[in-house]
Amino acid sequence: MAIIEIKNLTKVFEGGTRALDKVDLVVNGPDFLVILGPSGAGKSTLIRSINRLVSTADGSIRFHDREITGIHGRELRDVRKKMGMIFQQFNLIKRLNVLENVLVGRIRFQSFPSRFVTSLFRKFSIEDQRAAFECLCQVGIERQAYQRADTLSGGQQQRVAIARAIAQGPDMILADEPIASLDPKSSDVVMGIIKKINMEKGIPVIVNLHQYEFAKKYATRIVGMNDGRIVYDGPPENLDHETLGEIYKGGEE
Ligand code: ADP
Repeated sequence: MAIIEIKNLTKVFEGGTRALDKVDLVVNGPDFLVILGPSGAGKSTLIRSINRLVSTADGSIRFHDREITGIHGRELRDVRKKMGMIFQQFNLIKRLNVLENVLVGRIRFQSFPSRFVTSLFRKFSIEDQRAAFECLCQVGIERQAYQRADTLSGGQQQRVAIARAIAQGPDMILADEPIASLDPKSSDVVMGIIKKINMEKGIPVIVNLHQYEFAKKYATRIVGMNDGRIVYDGPPENLDHETLGEIYKGGEE
């Protein structure tokens, strides 16, 4: 059974931009899948439609064989819990410390009464704290556990965001341009950590990137996008110059 099965997915934004045009995509095993393409190709719209940060009216998205395009409320919360999300701008709560940020990732998905009580008193169980600390160890940022999030470097903040995502116990990781705000060295560290999680946990990762070099280095599968369409789907070693040209054709950069 596929983990994600997308069929005929189309997204037209208000104003008429067709960001996705009949996209089909199946993710089966623990792929390290990089969605590659120039700015404006539709990469972010595709990844955000998988966890429904972007709503789509046309086409189908199945997660573990369940249609998720129309779900809301608790059902949607349950599905999002199983999809750890990493953003370009990290999306941490700046005034909280690193460990609290990971814990907040956990309570976000609790049902109403316990979520309310936990956030009101900022009280987390010992098990929760231990689990969060363990996630910090996995991304190598445990020494900063009690430091305010906004005192960390960009690369360190992204590692905290990865820890927060894995603390949810996801079946899959989605990362929307996770290295676009980082220098090359931190980018490599962050990609290496995402790769390690992909391999150790055996869960698929879908990462948007616009840099071919990083895609080639880390991906087991590249999905090349241009103008809302998939123009390549295969291993990095089969991506030739001509196809690469097609991916970047007419892009904004
Ligand atoms: P990428 O991630 O590849 O840079 P995006 O998915 O962000 O591409 O955008 C694809 C296209 O959709 C672009 O032309 C962009 O301007 C447009 N777009 C994205 N979000 C919106 C929005 N909320 N409203 C209108 N147009 C949008």
